[in-house]
Amino acid sequence: MKQDGEEGTEEDTEEKCTICLSILEEGEDVRCLPCMHLFHQVCVDQWLITNKKCPICRVDIEAQLPSES
Ligand SMILES: [Zn+2]
Ligand SMILES: [Zn+2]
Repeated sequence: MKQDGEEGTEEDTEEKCTICLSILEEGEDVRCLPCMHLFHQVCVDQWLITNKKCPICRVDIEAQLPSES
């Protein structure tokens, strides 16, 4: 018996949102921080209200953003 299309892809480099601990699916709204870490846009927006650092590498997001006034 042979089934196509259901190959094991567990070793894939799936990006995970470490805020809600869910896999970042294609088509979802994701935000890439200046440190290149990816999160759901809604998750990181909530996070950045109280925290100005990346949840993963703790880089200061505000310092990384272009600050031209
Ligand atoms: Zn999330
Ligand atoms: Zn980061």
